Amino acid sequence: NHRIRLAARPHGEPGRDDFQHDAVEIRSPGPGDVLLRTRYLSLDPYVRGRMSDAPSYAAPMEVGDVIVGGTVSEIVESSDDGFAPGDVVLSYGGWQEYSIEPAAGLRRLDPGSAPVTTALGVLGMPGFTAYAGLLGIGRPQPGETVAVAAATGPVGSAVGQIARIHGARAIGIAGGEQKVARMRELGFDEALDHRAPALPDRLAQAAPDGIDVYFENVGGAVWDAVLPQLNEFARVPVCGLAANYNATELPEGPDRSGQLMGAVLTKSLTLRGFIQREFVEPMFEDFLRDMTDWVADGRVQYTEDISEGLDDAPDAFVRLLRGENFGKAIVQVS
Ligand code: NDP
Repeated sequence: NHRIRLAARPHGEPGRDDFQHDAVEIRSPGPGDVLLRTRYLSLDPYVRGRMSDAPSYAAPMEVGDVIVGGTVSEIVESSDDGFAPGDVVLSYGGWQEYSIEPAAGLRRLDPGSAPVTTALGVLGMPGFTAYAGLLGIGRPQPGETVAVAAATGPVGSAVGQIARIHGARAIGIAGGEQKVARMRELGFDEALDHRAPALPDRLAQAAPDGIDVYFENVGGAVWDAVLPQLNEFARVPVCGLAANYNATELPEGPDRSGQLMGAVLTKSLTLRGFIQREFVEPMFEDFLRDMTDWVADGRVQYTEDISEGLDDAPDAFVRLLRGENFGKAIVQVS
């Protein structure tokens, strides 16, 4: 069983020495467990947080642990009546070729109804994050303006398209020309490149009526450009801060937290952080029904960036954190 483990806690951007490749014997599953062969591995920004031991909403990985990650896997051997060899499931096998997991935590996938990789993206945790954060917290009304960054990724692209389904105007922000073209194909009303100069001015032009919902995926310079454009009573679901994940120190410059709190007060803003699992119980079923329909009828499109082979996972993960992924980052393992 080829695996990739955390060799050291990265300082800044993860490097090759932070990952250790090894191989161990494949074991047989105990009662209630199944042996799985990983087909596809999901790469997600939150894994960078788990590599650090800074306090967060989930416990960090320990050095020596197999790197965590969602997987689409095939049952090889089962000690549970509910699953048989050949079944394809959504699992949490991590960065390895084989995993042993409790059958109780698995979701069966139907390869006939949608490509199985969608269970890691548009029809899985990232798509659900978009749905729950936008509809549960952002609550866009018809005619309102919704802005989102990382807008070609699995979360951001779903946010923009769901906003339009709900009658809102969608402004997408992403890095580079290719991503701008992709945002246009996805139906965003405005598509802005955050790497090009003068983002604050271009954003102000793209949002002549201001911004009512800003779905926060990145923080950093994009947030600085958005804040002055927020309308009174704007809602900000705070989903992620990708610009900070590899940061090793605070940005330079004066402390602006006083101005931020001033804006929160005078514009009656709602900033609401969330972790998607909070909404699973009340919303996951609705999500799966709606999103399956929207994907089937083409109202929600998705992009996948699939790299080949487990060995490429560390590099593909670094590309994701740099914004060099084009769509949902996935590794085909077998
Ligand atoms: P993406 O595939 O969108 O990858 C992250 C993207 O962040 C990059 O592609 C890049 O896109 C963008 N980015 C990175 N650095 C910067 C920067 N300095 N400024 C602007 N953009 C930057 O990932 P996901 O769709 O999986 O996740 C999107 C966000 O949602 C992440 O912050 C993630 O942590 C968060 N998340 C939160 C969850 C929750 O429960 N709260 C659950 C799932 C995800 P670009 O090239 O466009 O700049």
